[in-house]
Amino acid sequence: MSFELPKLQYAYNALEPHIDAKTMEIHHSKHHNGYTNNLNNAIEGTDLEGKSIEYILQNCSNNPGLRNNAGGFWNHNLFWEVISPNGGGEPQGDLAQAINSKFESFSNFKTLFSKAAATRFGSGWAWLCIVDGELEICSTANQDNPLMGSGCGGTPILGIDVWEHAYYLNYQNRRPDYIAAFFNLVDWTIVSEKYNASK
Ligand code: MN
Repeated sequence: MSFELPKLQYAYNALEPHIDAKTMEIHHSKHHNGYTNNLNNAIEGTDLEGKSIEYILQNCSNNPGLRNNAGGFWNHNLFWEVISPNGGGEPQGDLAQAINSKFESFSNFKTLFSKAAATRFGSGWAWLCIVDGELEICSTANQDNPLMGSGCGGTPILGIDVWEHAYYLNYQNRRPDYIAAFFNLVDWTIVSEKYNASK
């Protein structure tokens, strides 16, 4: 049994103008596909073959190649899931309450999350996580993620890829513009489901 590149629930051009079709195609069919294949190659014939991706993430810290590819596989799975052509707006219900209680307002949350994403030096990710039932914002380098113990060490329910491959064709050096556009795509229904499942 090996890990498979997930099919997207929308077309490569469905997220325009926020993320362009060419970026989506290369990001999914080349970058994510590469992480998936390299992950499968790295675990083939080892004790990790057949284990869950969560187990692998918790047991890859001493193997940089595996760590990069297992993280790359899991991180992109989350990323495609939490964005959608029907996204944008604000969360409702319990997640909205939790955001207001932790960050004062949705607008302030957006500012803090955007700052974490904009200030991650080089390649990496920014996350909204649950840590001991509380929401936390953090960022991690490369393809690390909190499930490995990096950043806040929590369970991510929202993540933004700030590698240049995620935005450079359309936004070049303007990472803050890409981050602002990302908020037009966030599917808060999915993020809320993840919140309700993990809190
Ligand atoms: Mn990426």
